[in-house]
Amino acid sequence: MKAEKAKIATAPVIDSVIATVPSTQARNQKTIYLTFDDGPNRGTAKVMEVLKKAKTPATFFLVGSHIHGSQKQWDEYQAILKNPRFEAANHTYFHAKNRYAQFYKSPATALEDFRLMRDSLQLSTQIGRTPGCNTWRTTGITEDVDRRSRKAADLLKSKGVTLLGWDVEWKANGKRQLKSTVEEMAKEIEKQFAERLNKTDDHLVLLLHDQHFVDSTNLAALTDLIATLAEKGYVFEKAGNYPCL
Ligand SMILES: [Zn+2]
Repeated sequence: MKAEKAKIATAPVIDSVIATVPSTQARNQKTIYLTFDDGPNRGTAKVMEVLKKAKTPATFFLVGSHIHGSQKQWDEYQAILKNPRFEAANHTYFHAKNRYAQFYKSPATALEDFRLMRDSLQLSTQIGRTPGCNTWRTTGITEDVDRRSRKAADLLKSKGVTLLGWDVEWKANGKRQLKSTVEEMAKEIEKQFAERLNKTDDHLVLLLHDQHFVDSTNLAALTDLIATLAEKGYVFEKAGNYPCL
């Protein structure tokens, strides 16, 4: 924005204005969607703190049974709703009870789990994410990275659910240690954009899990990754602003 204003105000010396803008920022109109799955849980409040400090938007793909699991988790859900930078989306009520094979064999069960989440919380969004499967059903994208979700995803789409998968995941091991450093993640993200590996050019959906961001080491890494990506000129948006949903 600043660069735009400067260009208009000093049109005759446009070259010198451009030269003062870091080249990555001048060219970079690339958008990252931070998406946090499976909350609310013990990482959610800490993740929200990091995002609030960094003034960064994000989408939480929430599980209904977690929202109703405790007063604290209910309050965290309310805090997500109240903050205009945050967005709540549908990650089912029971998270397929973590029995994915059974769940996806019965598309009607999958639909029911999404509907229960939507109706019990009167969710206004139709954006959802399938548990345990990277599945896309938007206006422009139909893809099942894991084929077993195909029939369920088709049924969900026919009932008006928009499914957003992910381009990159920041994974952790069983001890909740992040598998990639901030530097490695930033490199992977840059490669995704440069080699046009994302589902939509210039738009990258990043999958994270609230429960990985509990200890101070991982929270510092999250803060660092957001700052690193912002410095490189990437823009952050909520999933609701993903193109052609
Ligand atoms: Zn999940």
